Amino acid sequence: MTAKIIDGKAFAAGIRAKVAGHVARLKEENGITPGLAVVLVGEDPASQVYVRSKGKMTVEVGMNSYEHKLDEGVDQGALLALIDRLNNDPEVHGILVQLPLPRHLDADLVINSINPEKDVDGFHISNVGLLGTGQKSMVPCTPLGSLMMLRDHLGSLSGLDAVVIGRSNIVGKPMAQLLLGDSCTVTIAHSRTKDLPVVVRRADIVVAAVGRPEMVPGDWIKPGATVIDVGINRIERDGKKILVGDVEFASASKVAGAITPVPGGVGPMTIACLLANTVTACCRANGLTEPEGLTA
Ligand code: NDP
Repeated sequence: MTAKIIDGKAFAAGIRAKVAGHVARLKEENGITPGLAVVLVGEDPASQVYVRSKGKMTVEVGMNSYEHKLDEGVDQGALLALIDRLNNDPEVHGILVQLPLPRHLDADLVINSINPEKDVDGFHISNVGLLGTGQKSMVPCTPLGSLMMLRDHLGSLSGLDAVVIGRSNIVGKPMAQLLLGDSCTVTIAHSRTKDLPVVVRRADIVVAAVGRPEMVPGDWIKPGATVIDVGINRIERDGKKILVGDVEFASASKVAGAITPVPGGVGPMTIACLLANTVTACCRANGLTEPEGLTA
C-alpha cells in the first residue's frame, strides 16, 4: 500500500482563505477588524522567526497584528502589566505569549493572566478545563489542526482506536481530549509506556508528538492507519541539515492509509489555526455567529 500524503500546506492555505473571507465580512458588515497581539520576550532566534511569520500571516488574512517585544531581562510585573493592558484593549481579540519564556519568569502565571476568551493558544487553565469537560473553549492550535486533517480524511472518527504518543500540555493531552470528544478509543503513550510497538500497531489513528527523529518505523503501523506526525526534528543527513518527523516517513508511507509529511504536514496548520482561533475569539467577543469549520 502507498499512503495518501495529507498536504498540510494546501489544507492550511484553505483555512487561511476561510479566515480571510470571514475577516472581510466582519469588516464590511460589522465594522470590526480582528486583532492578534503577540508578545515576545528576549532574542531566541527560533521564536523570532515564528513571531515574524505569525505577524506576516495575520496581516495577509486582513487582521491587525500587534507585536510587543520585551527585553530578555524584563521583570514579571512589567510583563503582567502589558498583558493586563492587552486584556482590556477592545481592538485586541487574541493574545499569544511566545514560549518558551526566560527562566526567571513564571510561564504558568503569565499564561493564566491572559483573559481566557483572548487566549488563542488555548493554554489558559480555564480553557484546559473547558476542553476536558467537553465545553466550548479555545483549542490549542497544533492539536486543532491535526483534528481538522483527520476529520477531513476520515469523516467520522467515532469508534476508531487512536494512539497519541506524547503527553505534553500543548500537544499530547489536548490532542487526546479532542479525539475522545470525537468518540475515539484513546490511548496516551509516553516515555514509560511498555511495549510501544504493540500499542501503536492496534491503532487506526496514530498521532506522534514526541520530538525524537523517526522513532516510529513503518512496521509499528497498522496497515491502512492514518498517521499524523507532529514531530519537528532538525538532523544532519548526507552532510545536509534537514527536518524529519517522529515517524520514519519512507517506511511508514508504504503501510499507512494516509500520512502527514514533515515538513509540510502539521506545521503549516498551527499558524492557520491560530488565525482561526483569533477570528473565533473576535466573533465571540462581539456576540456574533462563529465561522463554521474553524474550531473543534
Ligand atoms: P515535549 O517534550 O513537551 O513532550 C514529549 C513527549 O514525548 C513527552 O510526553 C514524553 O514522555 C514523550 N516521549 C519522550 N520519549 C519517548 C519515547 N521514547 N517513547 C514514547 N514517548 C516518549 O514535546 P512537545 O509535545 O512540545 O512536542 C513534541 C514534538 O512536536 C516536538 O518535535 C515539537 O517540535 C513538535 N511540535 C510541533 C508543532 C507543530 O506546529 N507542528 C507544535 C508543537 C510541537 P514523558 O512525558 O514520559 O517524558
